[in-house]
Amino acid sequence: MKRCNYCRREKPLSAYAEHKGRLRATCEECRPKKNAVNTKYAHGSTGTQTRAEYWKSPTGKTVRKKFNSSNAGKKSRKKWADSEKGHEYRIVKNERLAHKTATNPGLNLNLRLVASFNGILNGQKTCTLLERTSFTSCPDVRKHFEELLEGSGMTISDHGPKWWVGHRIPRVYFDHTNPADVKACWSKANMFPQSKQSNKDDTYFLTKENCLAVGAANFPASWNQTMPSENEMAALFAKAHAGELWV
Ligand SMILES: [Zn+2]
Repeated sequence: MKRCNYCRREKPLSAYAEHKGRLRATCEECRPKKNAVNTKYAHGSTGTQTRAEYWKSPTGKTVRKKFNSSNAGKKSRKKWADSEKGHEYRIVKNERLAHKTATNPGLNLNLRLVASFNGILNGQKTCTLLERTSFTSCPDVRKHFEELLEGSGMTISDHGPKWWVGHRIPRVYFDHTNPADVKACWSKANMFPQSKQSNKDDTYFLTKENCLAVGAANFPASWNQTMPSENEMAALFAKAHAGELWV
C-alpha cells in the first residue's frame, strides 16, 4: 500500500503508474484531476503573474540565463525547432505576424524601424524612416553606437554576431501609432549596443536603472513622465508577455 499525495488515501501499488523507474506519488485516478488544477492555476492570472515576476527576478534571470546557455537549453531549443510542432508553430507565428503587421500600423512601423537600424548599422546609406526618430542621419546613428562601443572591445562591424541594438525601455512599451512615442523609443537615450545574449535574455525586462538612464523625457507617453513602481513594472511585464501591448 502507498498513500496518494493528492487524495491522501492508502491505495495498492497497482494504482500508481511508474515514472522514471519509480512509482508516481499521485494515484492514476487523481493524476488527471491534479494536472487540471495545476494547469488551471498556471494559465490563470495568478499563475501567469507569479511566473512573470519569477522570470524577472534575479533568481529567475540567472536560472534562465544558465539554462539558455547550457547544452541542455540549446538542445531543447533545437529539438523544439526541429520538431513538427515547432515547425508548425513557426508557420502559424509568421502568418500571425504577417496578419498583425498588415492590420496594425504601429507594429508595422516598429518592425520596419528594427530592419532599418540593422541595415544602417550594416552599412546602409539612406533611410527615409529616420525622420520619425530622434536621429538625423545614418552617420548620426553609427556615431551614436560607435561612441557607446568605445572601450568595450567591440566595434560597429561586430553588429550582428556580437551585439544587437538594445532598447533600455523595450520597444513593446511604446505606442508606435503615437509619433512622440516613436521618437522616444528610437532616441539616443533609449538605444545602446547590447550583447546579443542579454538582448535575447532581457526581452521585455523593465528596470529602474534603465528607466533612470533613459530619463522621463523619453518615457512612453502613457507613463505621464512618471517612473512605474515595482508592482506596475511587474504588471507591465506580464502584459507584454501576454502579448497585450503590441500596438
Ligand atoms: Zn489519489
